[in-house]
Amino acid sequence: MLSIIVPVLNEARNIPVLHDEIRAVMNVIGKEHEIIFIDDGSEDDTLETIKNLGSRHVRYISFSRNFGKESAIIAGLGKARGEAAVIMDGDLQHPPSMIAEMNAHFEAGYDQVIAKRNRSGEPLMKRIPANLFYRVMNSTSTVRLVDGEGDFRLISRKVVDAILLLSENNRFSKGIFEWVGFGKKVVEFNHVGRTNGKSGFNPFKLFDYAVDGISAYNHRPLRICFHLGLVVLLISLAYILYIFVNILIYGVDEPGYFTIIASLLLLGSVQLFSLGIIGEYVGRIYIETKNRPNFIITEESDSEPLEKDDLH
Ligand code: UDP
Ligand code: MG
Repeated sequence: MLSIIVPVLNEARNIPVLHDEIRAVMNVIGKEHEIIFIDDGSEDDTLETIKNLGSRHVRYISFSRNFGKESAIIAGLGKARGEAAVIMDGDLQHPPSMIAEMNAHFEAGYDQVIAKRNRSGEPLMKRIPANLFYRVMNSTSTVRLVDGEGDFRLISRKVVDAILLLSENNRFSKGIFEWVGFGKKVVEFNHVGRTNGKSGFNPFKLFDYAVDGISAYNHRPLRICFHLGLVVLLISLAYILYIFVNILIYGVDEPGYFTIIASLLLLGSVQLFSLGIIGEYVGRIYIETKNRPNFIITEESDSEPLEKDDLH
């Protein structure tokens, strides 16, 4: 059986279409399946729409508020009963037709089949920051992320269980998928624009997401700020020595307003930068020690077993 996991935030208009498309594809593949919708604190009638689908293949989880797509994915994986799970967006930007190809590679023995999106159709406003993020992420981190390889993927039961074992509070799924390893296969699809509803991510949310990703996987940024501090210290020492020697040879120079301001600003900014990075990690430790759950469920579909003849 295949579990299809769809985190949804205000997607009432997309859900019926998505559901029909998934059902059509699954009928062609002829495999038993369940579609798990995770309502991530929607404010429209997303939950009602899910219930109204009235399909035995549909199961759902409803969060008490918006906990984020990452938490929704983890909740869905926890509920999944399939031998493999497909994670996909609920806004029709991840074409359900890809599931057939992904399933074929899974049956050929791959544990992770990644549907990679090419960004060609996307606006520059989104491509440039995305590019920057992948550069910073990959140069500071031990896990390698590839642009376009997002959450749209099929993972085997082995990978699902491995991911559920990680008990971190901050779950940056893109990184976790890479971190757990296993045999990977990449298939490509073209970027599809959103037709209904609007993106749940604004620039601020995306920036936070990027910082989460970068700091969740390594301590290298801490090391970078240490290096930076060291370099600035050496430069300052050399400069002080230079002035000192100058004074010894030529006598006291004119009071240098510029140099004082410059060094003040430089040192101040390096200190703030370093403090910020340290703060990022301290905050992370704080959150982890509280050991709060990733999400709170208000409502959930019952988990009746599927019936064989329900596949039509
Ligand atoms: N989503 C969610 N919680 C959030 C934001 C988004 O469950 O806090 C869902 C959303 O409904 C969609 C998927 O995650 O199914 C991808 O979100 P979106 O389309 O907003 O992201 P984008 O495609 O703009 O990166
Ligand atoms: Mg989208």
